[in-house]
Amino acid sequence: MKPKIGFIGIGIMGYHMSRNLISAGYQVTAYDVFEESLNRIVEHGAIKANSIKEVTADSDVVITMLPDSPDVEKVALGSEGISESARNGLLYIDMSTIAPDTAIKVADELGKQGVRCLDAPVSGGEVGAQNAALSIMVGGLQTLFDEVLPIFSVLGKTVTLCGSNGAGQIVKACNQIQVALNFVGMAEALVMGTKAGVDPEIIIKVLSGGYAQTRVMDVRGPQIIKGNFAPGFKSRFHYKDLNIIMDTAKRLQVPLPATAIAHELFASLLANGGGDLDHSAVIKVLEAMAGVEARAKEL
Ligand code: NAD
Repeated sequence: MKPKIGFIGIGIMGYHMSRNLISAGYQVTAYDVFEESLNRIVEHGAIKANSIKEVTADSDVVITMLPDSPDVEKVALGSEGISESARNGLLYIDMSTIAPDTAIKVADELGKQGVRCLDAPVSGGEVGAQNAALSIMVGGLQTLFDEVLPIFSVLGKTVTLCGSNGAGQIVKACNQIQVALNFVGMAEALVMGTKAGVDPEIIIKVLSGGYAQTRVMDVRGPQIIKGNFAPGFKSRFHYKDLNIIMDTAKRLQVPLPATAIAHELFASLLANGGGDLDHSAVIKVLEAMAGVEARAKEL
């Protein structure tokens, strides 16, 4: 029999992920502080919970997909959180992107109560969540990984055990370095080419057919040149991830000179009110610097 799943955090990602679990025949009990998000998934067959306690009461596995480290700490360890209502043997998987240190703290604290924990952040964006094509990077015990693999297989295509608790979040930080630098590189290319008078649509077409091709450009390039910056992945979340990365690098004494520049560019985007735009909107910072907008000519 399939384990019963509790899902907390029905936002951009959590909605598609819990929907895929329901479609695969899992019982999903859902909870979100935002009533509207919760009702959206209840319409697709989730059981509505009014508290975290109601989630843990009816679940063998609890998944969280929350914004940031403090949210996960609050839901996992805070008053009326998972630790207050969890039973011995519950399996808890946090799939949010948070600080590796917080993932380890949560696993240690809940572990004292017999709750078995994995960190399992994801990459692939909203499209990956929708199409059950996420890359899932897992930190924790091999035995737990094996037990949960059928659930992960419903959500993603590449599922990898990266090491002990916290290792999933470390690999996610590596992922976010590369994605941020891809966005900044694409933005600089489009801004310079456009200011020189070339249609950015042509730049995307050419770069996508050669060595400069990236998934970032495939997915977001055509949207950028239409001026569509609806999220997707919110810029304030990528800034959150860049803060996690810079803190982690500092602790490890690893200089990240290129990522530090991306970090400052995202800080500027947020300071100018772009936090809820897609992370591709980092191009707006470079456009303002250059005095040009990389938009397709027919617009
Ligand atoms: P989101 O803001 O759309 O969703 C988060 C949800 O959590 C919201 O519905 C919010 O109401 C809910 N929430 C917040 N605090 C809560 C609490 N205490 N109890 C219950 N619910 C609570 O965010 P998202 O885009 O779905 O991202 C979620 C996580 O996934 C983030 O850590 C993000 O970095 C990561 N992520 C997002 C993407 C993406 O493309 N959106 C891709 C990979 C990873």
